[in-house]
Amino acid sequence: MKLELVQGDITKVAADAIVNAANTSLLGGSGVDGAIHRAAGPELLAECRTLGRCPQGQAKLTKGYRLPARHVIHTVGPVWRGGNQSEEAVLARCYKSVFALVEQHGLRSVAFPSISTGAYGFPIEKAAPIALREMQAALARLPQLDKVTVVLFSAGDLAVYQRALAAAPESNPGGNV
Ligand code: ADP
Repeated sequence: MKLELVQGDITKVAADAIVNAANTSLLGGSGVDGAIHRAAGPELLAECRTLGRCPQGQAKLTKGYRLPARHVIHTVGPVWRGGNQSEEAVLARCYKSVFALVEQHGLRSVAFPSISTGAYGFPIEKAAPIALREMQAALARLPQLDKVTVVLFSAGDLAVYQRALAAAPESNPGGNV
């Protein structure tokens, strides 16, 4: 299975890249962003300082430093403002921007948190189908890509993603995406 949903802590995942749900400053924050910076060590912040700001929907790649992952791809999701401010399109753009870097750097495995569904307030039931659609599209498009993992922090979040995957147009009875 090339697309896998797991419950856990993304800072423990050994992949070519893990994705950070960052803010536009790229200088660290709460939630998964803080956890990634703590686990990667101060060298990550030092590299981020050289990158400048990152607008919503875009992504930037750094090294992984003390993480088991080789790289971190930082992307900035939309803040949920009720759904009429192009939040869904911006969230889809985050995933596309991450996969553009995955392609450019020849990465074979990438692990994502659930972007925007924590402090940024994007309803996870709406975010999960968007995330999974973009992952399935990237897996279909990029032959180099062996593994996409979504690392959900809670059992409840994992259940939402599992339901969305079962309902996704590209899902099949064996779940062999
Ligand atoms: P955002 O600001 O994009 O909403 P958050 O970090 O607040 O980002 O939340 C995004 C998701 O990441 C939430 O579902 C949160 O529970 C989850 N999360 C927080 N810490 C971790 C971690 N160490 N590993 C995986 N997911 C995490």
